[in-house]
Amino acid sequence: MPDPGQVDGCTCQDVARQATEFLENRLRAPASITIWRHLEGCADCRIYLEQMATVRDSLRQLPGAKMPDEMRGKLLERLRRVTRGKD
Ligand SMILES: [Zn+2]
Repeated sequence: MPDPGQVDGCTCQDVARQATEFLENRLRAPASITIWRHLEGCADCRIYLEQMATVRDSLRQLPGAKMPDEMRGKLLERLRRVTRGKD
């Protein structure tokens, strides 16, 4: 990848490392806001997180992997809105 993928001090690696916590809404405010900002500037991570949410949805039987439908819907809606707004 030629692009270092750094947006607002947060790298794609940071997003990947915290993806699970983020999707489960377990990140505290400063960290989650940093990720949202990164997502607004990084299409790769938006796609990555959306795919990850979809995969997690299909792995629902895993203990502790459940995400409330409402939360997942809001997240996906927000991701899609961000994606549409930029491209
Ligand atoms: Zn990224």
